[in-house]
Amino acid sequence: MFIENFKVESPNVKYTESVIHSVYDYQTTELVHEEKNGTYQWTVKPKTVKYEFKTDVHVPKLGVMLVGWGGNNGSTLTGGVIANREGISWATKDKVQQANYFGSLTQASTIRVGSFNGEEIYAPFKSILPMVNPDDVVFGGWDISNMNLADAMARAKVFDIDLQKQLRPYMESMVPLPGIYDPDFIAANQGSRANNVVKGTKKEQIDQIIKDIREFKEKNNVDKVVVLWTANTERYSNVAVGLNDTMENLFTAVDRNEAEISPSTLYAIACILENVPFINGSPQNTFVPGFIDLAIKRNTLIGGDDFKSGQTKMKSVLVDFLVGAGIKPTSIVSYNHLGNNDGMNLSAPQTFRSKEISKSNVVDDMVSSNAILYEPGEHPDHVVVIKYVPYVGDSKRAMDEYTSEIFMGGKNTIVLHNTCEDSLLAAPIILDLVLLAELSTRIQLKAEGEGKFHSFHPVATILSYLTKAPLVPPGTPVVNALSKQRAMLENILRACVGLAPENNMILEYK
Ligand code: NAD
Repeated sequence: MFIENFKVESPNVKYTESVIHSVYDYQTTELVHEEKNGTYQWTVKPKTVKYEFKTDVHVPKLGVMLVGWGGNNGSTLTGGVIANREGISWATKDKVQQANYFGSLTQASTIRVGSFNGEEIYAPFKSILPMVNPDDVVFGGWDISNMNLADAMARAKVFDIDLQKQLRPYMESMVPLPGIYDPDFIAANQGSRANNVVKGTKKEQIDQIIKDIREFKEKNNVDKVVVLWTANTERYSNVAVGLNDTMENLFTAVDRNEAEISPSTLYAIACILENVPFINGSPQNTFVPGFIDLAIKRNTLIGGDDFKSGQTKMKSVLVDFLVGAGIKPTSIVSYNHLGNNDGMNLSAPQTFRSKEISKSNVVDDMVSSNAILYEPGEHPDHVVVIKYVPYVGDSKRAMDEYTSEIFMGGKNTIVLHNTCEDSLLAAPIILDLVLLAELSTRIQLKAEGEGKFHSFHPVATILSYLTKAPLVPPGTPVVNALSKQRAMLENILRACVGLAPENNMILEYK
């Protein structure tokens, strides 16, 4: 059964006009070990830590500025939100299709809130806490190509033609602001697109982006802005002492117009200086150590890296299942071919390398969770191939072969073939990233013993369900397994309204 919304009634939760205040018992464990005759004896001690959460219930008018607004993802997301807002439907060869938000965790998934008369009761994910309605988001952003969003949508060849015709009047007047272009960071084949670029030194470029954000905010009368990079994948920047290893060195490097500071890092610096959250949807190392240092010092949210849309999402489900079942994946081989501009950009070795790195670590946490299967340091062979095939356009093909060792030396091979428009997978993820980033800036927490409420750590691990290579604060474990990432997000939001984590025990019926 489905309910649209709910309110929690408990001595631990108070809903006021301005905040939801919850007191929450966090059940965790403490581990101790002692050495006895050369071996360690471990003891696990359950412990409970009292937390308080305070969520600001005032939902702001949100502006979202996309870097790479005129790309396939940018135009698909913008058109998709307009179609939902305007209630557009269109004829396909199969049926009359209504706009929807399928693929969005916040808009199209549910959480279980309990059972009633023997039936499981589900509510929308977005009903846990007050969230921005995507229909109310104002979009804007930058692109190195000056094409308006209606033409960009046609260039992307993602939406059905009847839908494109209906969206055109809304999107024709949307023109991206000039972007920061540095041909050294993306493939040479992108050069012909770059007719809309910010001039000047790196410092001047940062100042221009800050000016753009302020003007966008004022012109559209929005309370808050979130910026998200969905532009071309860049090559990795070199990380070096004295260049970008500390905040001070990064600023000095910008001042001397150092060539190795990438456009994405420049946008990100501008955002942090404006206290605007910045999310990186591509694989490159925008977040060099000096930049992370800056974001932490300014306590401004950053999240990334690389949208977890297709192949990697499947991988972080399948390998979790296999290893969790006591089966040992020994070889994982992933082929992709795609024919959109992203694929063309990734055909250069340096940009491909960024993607390869981002896709490569995704099974690490699952492998290291099971030393019954893997010797220390042992790892499955893991290879990723990406090829550019123009004809298939945005309809990306991902083929994966998983070979595993099973009972008594047997081998099991699973082959997957996944075909669909890449941008239709990425657009709802972008939406979730910006909506959840905004929500998480309204949550404050404190553990018992902490004097004051504080925000989450600026490196937003809460977004990791949506990213391929989750960025975490230094010294924090990386979790890639999809079900754990979803549970983390859902359970934290539940804690904010005083609900226990979903434990799936259903003891009522045992
Ligand atoms: P796209 O090439 O269609 O769009 C990128 C846009 O960025 C282009 O319009 C380009 O002109 C613009 N651009 C490039 N450099 C810029 C800069 N410095 N400043 C402003 N604009 C700039 O690509 P896409 O398919 O929309 O994908 C965007 C990014 O998302 C890619 O890096 C891709 O790897 C990443 N990504 C996509 C998916 C997916 O499923 N679609 C998944 C994970 C990651």
